[in-house]
Amino acid sequence: MAKVYKVEYDRNNCIGAGICAALNPENFKINDDTKADLIGATFNEKTGMWEKEITEEEYEKMMAAAGGCPVLVIHVIDKETGERLV
Ligand code: SF4
Repeated sequence: MAKVYKVEYDRNNCIGAGICAALNPENFKINDDTKADLIGATFNEKTGMWEKEITEEEYEKMMAAAGGCPVLVIHVIDKETGERLV
């Protein structure tokens, strides 16, 4: 399955509200430090973001999590156009 979107997650600024994990438990899990982990992501030392690519099938739930995050630290980017959707 083609990975068509990129997710960038600014874990430093997560306030642990848990909405992402409630809306998208396949991709987010609350860690012991009360912040969310983006499951399967890798840390980009240059940007300080956790990054992961997702498929079209994962898109809707990722957009719900990103839009539901009260501090908007989850970003979804269209890989083809480079457009930041959230
Ligand atoms: S919804 Fe946002 S602030 Fe809350 S746990 Fe998820 S990433 Fe962190």
